[in-house]
Amino acid sequence: MKRVTILGATGSIGQNTIDLIARDPDAYQVVALTGSGNIARLAADAIRLRAGLAVTADPARLQDLRDALAGSGVEAAAGPRALVEAASRPADWVMSAIVGAAGLAPGLAALEQGATLALANKESLVCAGSLVLATARANDARLLPVDSEHSAVFQALVGEDMSAVERIVITGSGGAFRDWPIEALEHATLAEASSHPNWDMGQRITIDSASMFNKGLELIETKEYFGVRPDQIETIIHPESLVHAIVGFRDGALMAHVGPPDMRHAIGYALHWPDRRHLPVARLDLAQVASLTFRAPDLTRYPALRLARAVMDRGGLSGAVFNAAKERALDAFIAGRIRFTDMAVVVEEVLTRFESEAGLIDAAMTLDNVTQTDHLARMRADQVMAERAG
Ligand code: NDP
Ligand code: MG
Repeated sequence: MKRVTILGATGSIGQNTIDLIARDPDAYQVVALTGSGNIARLAADAIRLRAGLAVTADPARLQDLRDALAGSGVEAAAGPRALVEAASRPADWVMSAIVGAAGLAPGLAALEQGATLALANKESLVCAGSLVLATARANDARLLPVDSEHSAVFQALVGEDMSAVERIVITGSGGAFRDWPIEALEHATLAEASSHPNWDMGQRITIDSASMFNKGLELIETKEYFGVRPDQIETIIHPESLVHAIVGFRDGALMAHVGPPDMRHAIGYALHWPDRRHLPVARLDLAQVASLTFRAPDLTRYPALRLARAVMDRGGLSGAVFNAAKERALDAFIAGRIRFTDMAVVVEEVLTRFESEAGLIDAAMTLDNVTQTDHLARMRADQVMAERAG
C-alpha cells in the first residue's frame, strides 16, 4: 500500500488526484488531506478515503471541521502549522496542490521527511527554486513535476542526457483573451477572465492563464526545475492545448508530448512513476484533431511574459517578489478593485521598488527570507495599488 497525502485536496488538482486514488482504494492508504474553506468537501473525502488526518488552513473553521468529522475517527486540525504537521507525517507520496506561496512550507516539510513530492504548486519553485531542490537532495527525496508542461518535458527527457538539450518550448493556449483586441483587455471582467478555452482549473490559475502570468510562472519553473538557461526556454501560443511541451535536442530533433488537456495524465504519471499505468483519460483521434497550430506570443498583449524573463535574469529572491505581487494584484482584481491590465503594472512597479532596496533580492534563500520577502512584496503591492487609486 502506498501511503499518500494530498495538500490542497479540495481544489481542482486535489480532486483530480482523489479521482485517481479512489479508483483503486486498496492500493493507497491516505495519511492526510488538507483544504481551506471547503470544509464539507474536505470532511466528506476524508471520511470516504478513511484518511488519518484532515486539516483546514483556516483556524476559524476548526470547529466546523470537527463537527463535520464527528464520529468518523478522522483527526481534525487547523492552521498553517497543522498543514506543515500533516505534510511531515510519514508518507511515500505527497501531492503539493495548495494554490500560491502558502504551498511552500508544507511542500518543504514533505521533502524533509523523504517523501516523493508531486509538485503542482509551481509557486514553490518560483519563490524558492534552489531551496526546494536543495531540500530534496539533502533528504534523498524525489521531486516530480505535475504542471502539464513540465510533466511533458520530464517525459520527453526520459533516457536523454541534459547536455544534449538545446531548448525547451513551453506551450500555452493564450487564455481567454488571446483573440481580443488589445484595447479591450482593460475592460475585461472577472467572469470573462475566469473561463478557460480548454482546461478546467481553479479560478486563480484560470485568470493567470488569461493574463499569461501563469506562463510567466512556468518559464521560471522550467528554469529552476530543469536547470537550463533562460535563453534556452521558449513560449509558444498553441490554441488547441494538445501539445504540452517540446524539447529540442542538439541534433535538431524535437520531442513533443501530445495528449488531451486532462490533468489526470500528469497527476497519474507522477503517481505511478517510474511505471506507466492505464489512466482514465480520453484517447486523441488525430484525424479528428486534423491540425495543430502555433503562433508567437505578443509581448504587448502579455506583459507578464516580459516581467518573468526579467525575473529569470535577475534571479535571487526576485521570483518571490514577482509571485507575491502577482498574488496580491490578482486578489485585488478578483475583488473588483483593479482592472485586468493593472495587474502587470502593479507587479512591474513592485519589482522596480525592490531593486532600489539594496540587498533584499540578494539575501540568502532560506525559508525565513523567502517568507519575509513574500510579506514585504505583498505590502508593497498594496501600497502601489493604494497610490494608484488615490
Ligand atoms: P484551486 O483553487 O482549485 O485549489 C487550491 C487548494 O488550496 C484548495 O484545496 C484550497 O482549499 C487550498 N487553499 C487555498 N488557500 C490556501 C491557503 N492559504 N493555505 C492552504 N491551502 C489553501 O487550485 P488548483 O487546484 O487549480 O491549483 C493548485 C496548484 O496547482 C496551484 O499552484 C496551480 O498553479 C497548480 N496547477 C493547477 C493546474 C490545474 O489544472 N488546476 C494545472 C497546473 C498547475 P479550499 O478550496 O478548501 O478553500
Ligand atoms: Mg501548466
